[in-house]
Amino acid sequence: MKVSVLASGSSGNVTYIETPKHRVLVDAGLSGKKVESLMHDIGRTLKDVDALFVTHEHSDHIKGVGVLARKYGMPVYANTDTWDAIGTKIGVIPAEQKMDFEPGKVLTLDDLDVESFPVSHDAANPQFYQFHHNSKAFAIVTDTGYLSDRLHGTLQNADAYLIEANHDVEMLRMGGYAWSLKQRILSDKGHLSNEDGALAAIDLLGNKTKQIYLGHLSKENNQKVLAHVTVEQIMQNRDIAVDHDFMLYDTDPEIATKLTVI
Ligand SMILES: [Zn+2]
Ligand SMILES: [Zn+2]
Repeated sequence: MKVSVLASGSSGNVTYIETPKHRVLVDAGLSGKKVESLMHDIGRTLKDVDALFVTHEHSDHIKGVGVLARKYGMPVYANTDTWDAIGTKIGVIPAEQKMDFEPGKVLTLDDLDVESFPVSHDAANPQFYQFHHNSKAFAIVTDTGYLSDRLHGTLQNADAYLIEANHDVEMLRMGGYAWSLKQRILSDKGHLSNEDGALAAIDLLGNKTKQIYLGHLSKENNQKVLAHVTVEQIMQNRDIAVDHDFMLYDTDPEIATKLTVI
């Protein structure tokens, strides 16, 4: 399995996953044109993408979904509550392309198993995905206020993670966001801070884990270096050998990460 985080951040999210038989996306939270250009950057084309998995209805996850579905005709998977919440926000998607995929289910596409799981976030029924191929696992978990004990079981010891490091708590507290928005982000249905993302990663990682991507950084309330150093420090304090046991990668809202074997 190969993975590229095409874009990650509060401004837009898309992740690309491929196996010998399938090429899929998780979310398309940028314009269709931007997703096309990011795919081009990793030497791939949307013409070959045969499924798109949507996590929830926030615009940083669905902005380009309608355009891509209409232009390329791939099936789009989301749970029924999310479909209802999306409504007409992204225009009309032909009924035969709209697939229901409920949380806690596994969808098998030949050599790729896709497992959906619920997260705690202020959307209708947000779910993220873990991909399994040839006994390798890649889990994406962003847009969540915390990780439940049950999720710890589901996501334990994956080969790679894209995990949320949304904000620095001090930057968020001191910053210009309205009080209510700050409360929302900090709540159990908001986003993981750098510290919380580090602790979640520490709980999840195991001897198989070789890659951790830090994602969904807030433009206003975080910085790439700050997120990286904070996570690295918390891990090192617990005697976890970052960049030895596994690699810790940054992601970017506009630059795709290198297509990497999981
Ligand atoms: Zn969200
Ligand atoms: Zn988001």
